[in-house]
Amino acid sequence: MELELTLEGMNLGIDERRPLVIAGPCSAETEEQVMETARQLSHNGIKIFRAGVWKPRTKPGGFEGKGAEALPWLQRVKAETGMLLATEVATPEHVETALKAGIDILWIGARTTANPFSVQAIADALKGTDVPVLVKNPVNPDIELWTGALLRINNAGIRRLGAIHRGFSSVDSKLYRNPPMWHIPIELKRRFPSLTIITDPSHMGGRRDLVAPLAQQAMDLGMDGLMIEAHCNPDCAWSDANQQVLPEVLDFILDRLVVRESVEITESISQLRKQIDELDNQLMDLLTKRMRVSREIAEYKKLHNMTVVQTTRYSEILDKRAAQGVLCGMNPDFVKKVYEAIHSESVRQQIEYMNK
Ligand code: PEP
Ligand code: MN
Repeated sequence: MELELTLEGMNLGIDERRPLVIAGPCSAETEEQVMETARQLSHNGIKIFRAGVWKPRTKPGGFEGKGAEALPWLQRVKAETGMLLATEVATPEHVETALKAGIDILWIGARTTANPFSVQAIADALKGTDVPVLVKNPVNPDIELWTGALLRINNAGIRRLGAIHRGFSSVDSKLYRNPPMWHIPIELKRRFPSLTIITDPSHMGGRRDLVAPLAQQAMDLGMDGLMIEAHCNPDCAWSDANQQVLPEVLDFILDRLVVRESVEITESISQLRKQIDELDNQLMDLLTKRMRVSREIAEYKKLHNMTVVQTTRYSEILDKRAAQGVLCGMNPDFVKKVYEAIHSESVRQQIEYMNK
């Protein structure tokens, strides 16, 4: 796939050393809020302004965006600051309305990317245009669905295509609103080395204080740019208030960002190592969950006066996993060793729990 996001030879970062940055409020709320935020961002060198006009909300009754009413405000931003405009589209009507209003970059939101029917309808509406399109990852961690959406848009003739990594829904994430699962965008980059991947630390972290560390992590992993939510009065934002930052805070964050230079030289090995690190993180996470369930079992056993070790169950686990290991190309003795170690720690934790 041939993908680029350079517009008319413009450098879209704050300066040549910086990544491409797209910033602006989660939603366009009022003309004043849009203009005030845009002026401050532009003053700090931001060249692409984002604002949601049509907002996908989990439940009805929330603020669903101002719709077409907000488009003249964005046009005013462009006229007064010269910034390029980006907004989310979810239907063919949005595409048509946004293009008529002169929006420069369209993005497809996470909820929409998850639905191939919607993506195809958008792709059909894009045929014959050459607007740059950014595809956010689907809400679920499915790289094939993300790739499929990029291909649908690409097949519609869109060449200036990029991806936005905003993290993935998870039921029990404590720290992040949408855990990044970095191995997924890294794998996407491995599959499509020329694909521009922009990180959205705002939706990933869901919290102001996580924007800077996530943005730095994105740079360390060689991502190409950032999309960050900024608002002139974040605490009073009509959507995503917790994660939006003041334009001056964004400036501070971008100023301190360390952009690594020698990414290309060792890119493949370091990307593979990052994948390993990320997978190890997931392994630890899974082990933690497994131990937690095991302690719940201990509670049941205690209540019913059962012994900790039930040998039939233990042999069943070892045999089943060893056989599965063979199917996965692993030595069954290795798998047995791993499960013996897990089981022994699990037993230790159960005994500890039952004697509490
Ligand atoms: C947004 O960018 O404001 C948005 C709704 O994001 P996402 O689709 O990633 O949830
Ligand atoms: Mn948002």
